[in-house]
Amino acid sequence: MSTSSVIVEPLDTTVKEISPRETTNAIRSWACDFNITHRALKEILSIIRHDYGDKDLPMDPRTLIRTPQRTGMTFKSISGGQYWHQGLEICLKKSFEHLTEDIQIELNVNIDGLPIHRSSKYQFWPILCNVHQMPHIPPMTVGIFLGKIKPQNITEYLTPFVEELISVLSKGVKVNNHAVGVKIRCIVCDSPARAFIKGTTNFNGINGCLKCTIEGEYSYVSRTVTFPKLNCVLRTDEKFRRKEYGRHHKEDSPLLKIPGLDMIKDFVVADSLHLLDLGIMKRCLVGWRDGTLGFKAKMCASDIAKLTNAILRTKLPSEIHRSLRGMDCLAFWKGSEWRAFLNYVGIVVLKDYLSSHVYNHFLVLFVAVTICSCSIYAEYLSLAQHMFECYIIEFKNIYGAECVTSNVHNLEHIVGDVIRFGPLPSISSYPFENALFQIKRQLRHGQNSLEQVANRITEKSSLPLKIQHAEYPAIKRIGNIQFSSVQCYIKSEFFLSTNFKNSWF
Ligand SMILES: [Zn+2]
Repeated sequence: MSTSSVIVEPLDTTVKEISPRETTNAIRSWACDFNITHRALKEILSIIRHDYGDKDLPMDPRTLIRTPQRTGMTFKSISGGQYWHQGLEICLKKSFEHLTEDIQIELNVNIDGLPIHRSSKYQFWPILCNVHQMPHIPPMTVGIFLGKIKPQNITEYLTPFVEELISVLSKGVKVNNHAVGVKIRCIVCDSPARAFIKGTTNFNGINGCLKCTIEGEYSYVSRTVTFPKLNCVLRTDEKFRRKEYGRHHKEDSPLLKIPGLDMIKDFVVADSLHLLDLGIMKRCLVGWRDGTLGFKAKMCASDIAKLTNAILRTKLPSEIHRSLRGMDCLAFWKGSEWRAFLNYVGIVVLKDYLSSHVYNHFLVLFVAVTICSCSIYAEYLSLAQHMFECYIIEFKNIYGAECVTSNVHNLEHIVGDVIRFGPLPSISSYPFENALFQIKRQLRHGQNSLEQVANRITEKSSLPLKIQHAEYPAIKRIGNIQFSSVQCYIKSEFFLSTNFKNSWF
């Protein structure tokens, strides 16, 4: 090739000037993102100021990352511990700081407890919200309780949130001179938290079902309450508010004051993380391995080893970010591993290790869950309802009536939630799990845990909002994305590509 045809572009040798303000902002953002301690930050600030002569940087790390003054924070003592209320309006103003038009949003609310250390009984009970229409906005922390036990008085715990919510629902929030109209979409929690915040009897009590009037039966075999009946009368908001459900009611929850909230239908039971992944799938696989589910036979060691090998060799599609561990690590599997097993891996690897009856029973669950997981299958929801009911009946036949616990019974209520709100990924507590983990991760030492977390959250609120990638649904909505020639466009919400991870269907 002739060299004369090659045009050499001159190198751009100009060095971009970085203003002191940009440096300050960049260090502040880095310190907050990586949870850098004040001591380490002070050291690095001193090095930069001294060695690089940057005298515009503050000397005090607290000034740089805008740690709030102790006097400016309010920690309220309530029964069982302390509560810090950041406020819903503050959270919404931060989330919509770049708003350019009036909008209407729907909030999903999540309330759950999490232990903060393995070595102590202290636990956080955060009140989190996210915006249904904007899954890229991280969940907002409206308030947090800290105590050695869960909040002992739901009125004290929930009233600051409920009172502010009532005002926000009626007046909306003004941001950048634009109106944010707010509605409550649903409340997503695990079973114990759901019963606690509603002021009802525990989920595994005789009258524990939040959706229907089934009366559980105590089993002396499993020493739990079981729920073998189907198609019991559904509870209604009107009767719940009139306290017509006898022993189901324990106390009045402040949530009753939220206008328009349906105390039955707006509380999601179909939370795939707790009900399906950490619930049914975990119980079945551990039960098959250890012989703890109904039939007493365990899997033999060689089958466990072969199944582990099959799980580890399975190649997963691109929406699964975490590879699965073997059958010897089931106690450590995270929710996402159970989710991947139920939605993808199980139907492939289990076939050779379960009897055909048990395997076909699992397939019924798999198909019903698949139908409920994506809007493109919406026309089959009545079939999914039928399959869940068949699954519950056969569960009783295969494993025994004493194994039909609250989780198994709640499968009957999944389709009702999906019809009301949309596919399972839109009503799961997965988005909140990461937020809960992040709250705990911000602790640097064992003292003043609530103050530490409140400080870190307030420091971060001075940074530009970091949007997150929405995970799931399994089949992505493509919108206006341009397709390259290696992608095969099947229908409005579905594409295949030559990339291995996106070539499955
Ligand atoms: Zn029920």
